[in-house]
Amino acid sequence: MADQKVKPKCPLCNGENFNKEEGKIDSKWGATAHKVTLLICNKCGNVLIFSEGRTLWDMD
Ligand SMILES: [Zn+2]
Repeated sequence: MADQKVKPKCPLCNGENFNKEEGKIDSKWGATAHKVTLLICNKCGNVLIFSEGRTLWDMD
């Protein structure tokens, strides 16, 4: 079990089905644009945001 993938789960409704969208967030303070992945819960519409390379999903 080398890499352990955490399956995203909606914190609001425990849904596991998401619409995936990719986007960019432009930083006002620098030239860098962050690539982000948005997961939109099919059930309740809650939006989870993942930034490139690193997940923001460690609030368990
Ligand atoms: Zn949900």
